[in-house]
Amino acid sequence: MSQPHPAEPLVPRRPPIETTLFDFFKVGPGPSSSHTIGPMKAGNDFVECCAALPADELARAADLQVTLLGSLSATGKGHGTDTAVLAGLLGSRPESCSPEVLPSLRAGGAQARHVLRLGGKELSLGLGNICFGPVQHDAPFSNTLRCSLRDAAGREIFGREYYSVGGGFIQWRGWTPPERGRPVHPYGTMRELHRCLNETGLTLHELILENETAITGMSRPAILERLDDMMDAMYDSVRRGLRGSGRLPGTLGVWRKAGALLERAAALPYMVDRFLGKLNAYAFAVAEENASGGVIVTAPTCGAAGVMPALLYAMRQDLNIGERALREGLLASAAVGFLAKHNAGIAGAEVGCQGEVGVASAMGAAMLTHARGNAATVVENAAEVALEHHLGLTCDPVGGYVQVPCIERNAVGAIKAYNASLLATCEESAHHLVSLDAAIMAMGETGREMSAKFKETSEGGLAVSIVEC
Ligand code: SF4
Repeated sequence: MSQPHPAEPLVPRRPPIETTLFDFFKVGPGPSSSHTIGPMKAGNDFVECCAALPADELARAADLQVTLLGSLSATGKGHGTDTAVLAGLLGSRPESCSPEVLPSLRAGGAQARHVLRLGGKELSLGLGNICFGPVQHDAPFSNTLRCSLRDAAGREIFGREYYSVGGGFIQWRGWTPPERGRPVHPYGTMRELHRCLNETGLTLHELILENETAITGMSRPAILERLDDMMDAMYDSVRRGLRGSGRLPGTLGVWRKAGALLERAAALPYMVDRFLGKLNAYAFAVAEENASGGVIVTAPTCGAAGVMPALLYAMRQDLNIGERALREGLLASAAVGFLAKHNAGIAGAEVGCQGEVGVASAMGAAMLTHARGNAATVVENAAEVALEHHLGLTCDPVGGYVQVPCIERNAVGAIKAYNASLLATCEESAHHLVSLDAAIMAMGETGREMSAKFKETSEGGLAVSIVEC
């Protein structure tokens, strides 16, 4: 039987989770889901809206301007947000964007011009059309983009204010959630999830699958096929990263290390060191791919994209866990990610790195623990341990690049996930004091109280101290 935790926090009742697997796990270019994938999607959406304007309004269009605000302005240069928006405006989509698109737009510099066709109208666009506005602003989300289509006199024909709310999700002023099905097993907290598991007798992965079918209308085989594609994208990102060499883009001059880490780990004399060393190398591989703008899977974000694939790859290659158990573990991990997103946040700009690498580590711990056949209570405890020991973790990327501390932090997050799973499987689960709901609640509160300088603005912490030393 699935046991809710004895020491439950007073979690306010919230509407049920309606996030779906493929809302959450998105294939797209790094280095930041909120700073590249979300803004690219905003560019796509804005152009689609403009193209649907009446012909007489489109005929007056002479200029298109995008202003980046908040954290997008503070660290957008290092994250390549301007390039991602431009690519989105020019028709690139995160899921199908080839790895060459962003580097080639960047290489063209501010002078390069590109043609945007809107119906019968042609506009000339370049990086100069994307400007970096104030970091302080009064919009409801830090990561805000203001997009404006104007006539020759600078009068706005159509405008939209977008919010990149983390994990590659976007909303806009006046946005309402899309109409779709309702979950057949509604839950908003881990406690409610335990109740659903007990009432239905389903396993955690089965419950997630049934909700996914009900919300999206997709058949079970279609969901599983897409899940396998997504897992393949994760394995590919590990393999590509292990082959990478040289320095990462940007001014920090960071060397890619994944290949060397793997080589040296394989030569270590003790088996346990070889395994942990390989896990480090796999996480570095994906995090370095992400930092270089390569295609990764948000799990839950780009910045934290190395943790889950590292564990998945190690579970398959080094722990010989079968495909079916891997898939089931991944489904169980999604429940943890959904709960964190629903009740606290998963964006560095919103709650700090505890919501990125912390949540990725909690998901990884849940994946491994579920794939090894443990009960939902043990899976919850593993996720809780991993999250609890990331609480308070700030987001302070040096120079605005998702490199330092992000890359090493992914490796540390993967190893913490492994240890959290060990702790949870070796302890008496009824003796575990802190529930996952409590840890998520603490993360939300800590994130709300965290100074803005520690939330992906590169104005505090390591981002400042490493420069000032
Ligand atoms: S410090 Fe963490 S939250 Fe911030 S950009 Fe790096 S990985 Fe993301």
